[in-house]
Order: sequence, then structure tokens, then C-alpha cells
Amino acid sequence: MNNDTTLKFLGKDYGFGKQNNSAYYETEKGLVLIDCGFTVFSQVKEKFDFNKYETIHIIITHLHNDHAGSLSQLILYLWFNCNKKAIVVSKCERIKEYLEITGTPKESYELKQELDNLTFIKTNHTPYLDAYGFNLNLANRSILYTGDTAVIEPFMPYLNETEELYIDVSRFGGAHIKIDDIVTLLRQLKNEGKKIIFMHMDDKEYIEKIAESI
Ligand SMILES: [Zn+2]
Ligand SMILES: [Zn+2]
Repeated sequence: MNNDTTLKFLGKDYGFGKQNNSAYYETEKGLVLIDCGFTVFSQVKEKFDFNKYETIHIIITHLHNDHAGSLSQLILYLWFNCNKKAIVVSKCERIKEYLEITGTPKESYELKQELDNLTFIKTNHTPYLDAYGFNLNLANRSILYTGDTAVIEPFMPYLNETEELYIDVSRFGGAHIKIDDIVTLLRQLKNEGKKIIFMHMDDKEYIEKIAESI
């Protein structure tokens, strides 16, 4: 089986890990970054030649620091060093305020709530902020990305069509899906030929052991 995934990752660690959970894909003309946590700016600065992209989109799933902690930094860098206006794509209720209080000039970015072929899915993560996953159709692949979520329910209507499932899993649960609770579902999805990619892992060893068993 081909192990390639449509989304590439900068990190798959949980919030206290080394590399924040963040992914990206490239389009004909641009780069689309998914989340921009506090470790992401230093990574992308080394990794990408931003000048080669016509457009740079940054999807923000929610405003926890491990998902938006270096967003302003990246926008400022693109604006002042690369002469580029980042396009931030997010449904977070307070994102405008967040960018304002971190001193991000209004003219340095564009804020959008929509992106072609992408549907945001509101989910429950913590009571302190609103969080979103999304369904994305890319190169004829149907992708489901949960973002940080405590529950799988909001994503259930999309599972049937999904070919690649990027799912937030945790050994301990709480604000994230406890992997033990969804093993049966994951096994079923894998049997149906879907690719399952675990993200935001708090105990990699434990989660990888389960991944091998499904
Ligand atoms: Zn997180
Ligand atoms: Zn979070």
C-alpha cells in the first residue's frame, strides 16, 4: 500500500511536545499551511523559500498557542521580509482581535472564512475557545482533518467519503480523543481502505502500538 499522504507534516506532537502539530500542502501557485503554533515559525523560515509562492494561505483551527502562537510572527516576516500578504483562513471568533493585540498591521494580512474545496467543521475541544476541523477535497482525494477535538461526532457525517483521516488522538483523553475509545471505529475505517494518520500525540509509543494493532 502506498504510504504517501496528501498532507505533509511539520510536527505531530501534542501541545507540550517539541514540534507543534502542523501540516501543509502545496498548490500550483501557492503554499497552504495548517496551523502556526509557537514552534512553527522557526521551522518554516528554514524550510520554505516563500518567494517562490504566489499565495500563502494559513489555516488556523483554533487559538491555542500550539496552533496560533507564531501566527503574527509569520505574517510580519512575510510582510516585511518577503513583501507578501498572508491570507489567514479561519472561523475562530476572536482571530481578528488576536491579530490586533499581537500588533499585526491590518494591511499585512487578509482574513477569510472560506477556502476553495474546504468546509470547516465546528467541534468541541475545550470550553475556553471555539475550535474547527475541516473536510478538504484535494487532487481528487477527500481529506478529513479533525484539528484538536475531544469528540469524533461532528466528523461522523464525513467519514464515509473520507479517504484520508487525520485525527487528534491522545492516550489520556480530556480535551482530545482518547484513542482507546475509538479503536473499533478505526479498525473498521482501516478495513474500508481509508488511510488513518494520527496527530497531536501525547504518548507516541503507546499510540503507535495501537496503530500497529488495527
Ligand atoms: Zn493542540
Ligand atoms: Zn488545542
